[in-house]
Amino acid sequence: MTQNNKVVIFLGPPGAGKGTQAARLAAEQNLVQLSTGDILRDHVARDTELGRQVKPILDAGHLVPDDILIALIRDRLAGMEPVRVIFDGFPRTTAQAEALDVLLEELGAPASAVPLLEVPDQVLIDRIVDRGRQAAERGEKVRSDDNEETARRRQQVYREQTQPLIDYYAARGHLYTVNGVGSMDEVYSRITQGMK
Ligand code: ADP
Repeated sequence: MTQNNKVVIFLGPPGAGKGTQAARLAAEQNLVQLSTGDILRDHVARDTELGRQVKPILDAGHLVPDDILIALIRDRLAGMEPVRVIFDGFPRTTAQAEALDVLLEELGAPASAVPLLEVPDQVLIDRIVDRGRQAAERGEKVRSDDNEETARRRQQVYREQTQPLIDYYAARGHLYTVNGVGSMDEVYSRITQGMK
């Protein structure tokens, strides 16, 4: 069954549209979407022990410790056969990327595509602030980190801790850059076109 494995890792800054694009790709290509932000927010919403532990970190726009994320992902991958998965929001640090490599190697399912969504910084902030505003207007729950101040901190954390992964994956092949400015359909077709 290994020939059916497919592992896609979405890279890109907060607000680049990884979650939206990953959801569509998952639906169309029968992949499991592992969005670590969603998984953590779900724990917060359910007020689990983990949720209580990570809430202040999410609210501040900082990163949750690597060991927590690595354990979460290890659990989700355990026994998956075939391995058909999209990572969205993970890995975010070099330690996470190295741990993921080990897990994927154990499963015999190396990364097959690493799209990097590129969007200019100010566009990202505008998108995040708009997302917060629109959720509020619709009477939906607003993400506690979707405000300008926290968005800027997330951007800074991305630059310092996650951007180095671009070189990490570029050195291993599979990385390709995608212009993330345009309609959802345009961006989606750029992502699939870059995929071999
Ligand atoms: P965004 O990419 O828009 O900032 P996410 O939903 O991916 O949003 O992540 C929201 C928050 O969840 C992050 O700011 C961070 O606190 C936490 N988080 C998500 N994934 C990770 C990860 N892989 N490592 C550490 N923290 C994470």
